Amino acid sequence: MRHVNAPARAVVDLSVITSNVRQLRAHAPTAELMAVVKADAYGHGLVPSARAAVAGGATWLGTAQMGEAIALRAAGVSGPRILTWLYAPGAPLAQAIQADVDVAVSSASALVEVVAAARLVGRTARVHLKVDTGLGRNGLTPADLGDVLPAALHAQAEGAVALVGVWSHLAFADEPDHPTVRTQHAVFADAVHLVEAAGAALEVRHLANSAATLTSPQVHYDLVRPGIAVYGLSPVPQLGGPEHYGLVPAMTLEAELATVKRVPAGHGVSYAHQYVTTHDTVLGVVPLGYADGIPRHASGTPQRLGGPVRVGERTLGVAGRVCMDQLVVDLGPGASERAGDRVELFGTGLDGGPTAQDWAEAAGTISYEIVTRIGASVPREHVGLEEETA
Ligand SMILES: *Cc1c(COP(=O)(O)O)cnc(C)c1O
Repeated sequence: MRHVNAPARAVVDLSVITSNVRQLRAHAPTAELMAVVKADAYGHGLVPSARAAVAGGATWLGTAQMGEAIALRAAGVSGPRILTWLYAPGAPLAQAIQADVDVAVSSASALVEVVAAARLVGRTARVHLKVDTGLGRNGLTPADLGDVLPAALHAQAEGAVALVGVWSHLAFADEPDHPTVRTQHAVFADAVHLVEAAGAALEVRHLANSAATLTSPQVHYDLVRPGIAVYGLSPVPQLGGPEHYGLVPAMTLEAELATVKRVPAGHGVSYAHQYVTTHDTVLGVVPLGYADGIPRHASGTPQRLGGPVRVGERTLGVAGRVCMDQLVVDLGPGASERAGDRVELFGTGLDGGPTAQDWAEAAGTISYEIVTRIGASVPREHVGLEEETA
């Protein structure tokens, strides 16, 4: 479906998400796979991406926000288990439990709320105890775990909760040799032992994000939780690009040139004239800017062109400042492009074209931030839909 009112779009190839999940399962053959679909599936579209991941063999889906987990069930995604993990007091826990969503517990007060919500809806809440093994973010410290466990076991004996999981998250998964990977693994093993020795029959112990799924098999446990790799971007670009791991980027960001015009040498381009033409040339205006999620930090100067833009067979760079709604590309004096011609900011990279990783490098960030920040102003166009979806 073409959105005729939008001069740009993010085309998401769902068959690529499916095949990336198949590849990731091959990287972690002894574990089940949770496709992390938080943040609107990293900007790729929550429900279609989730279904595509399930088609590739994901038996679990994960979201940070509870609203996304509930939305998946409301959309009819009923096959996989769903875990949600980030919420503040007053979250719609009753609704999540009613919708058969597993919930993480990261504090004593969260457990109290989960138990109350489970009693309210008359269902057993499936709980994954989140342990802070060293990341220093959400989760029970090992000391807190010792305090919360008796209450959790008590609630389990009463049928309010079932302790189905223990899990944690790594601080340096993208540096597999970093000593904290081993330390966190050891703290995690102790936490699992503590909970199991206390009598919990855990279904899943899980620790690995994309980077650990690809590079640290010793932490795969029963379930791996890749996010960025599902969408075909490398979590460890310094170790290898997607192709190194059999992955392909699923999102292509493309636009039509709004206008094309000839300007003389010495012409300033965009705000503050950070770029000035060095000769007679042709400028193309791309109707995407920072309001659409294009990082302003990827602006360009004559010395250092900004984020890459594929124009025909050529890869050019942003000339001057990225504006709110638009950016400019210096097409060169002999340009034959016309308004309406398609340009690509990033895509699969298979044809030598630019990738979200290239944009990340141009903006001094990570590919995660590039794809997740593509705004709601940019329509998602889903292609490559498989029939056998969830
Ligand atoms: C986001 C997230 C993941 C997935 O991380 P990637 O690096 O994208 O694979 C896994 N687990 C938790 C707790 C997360 O917050």
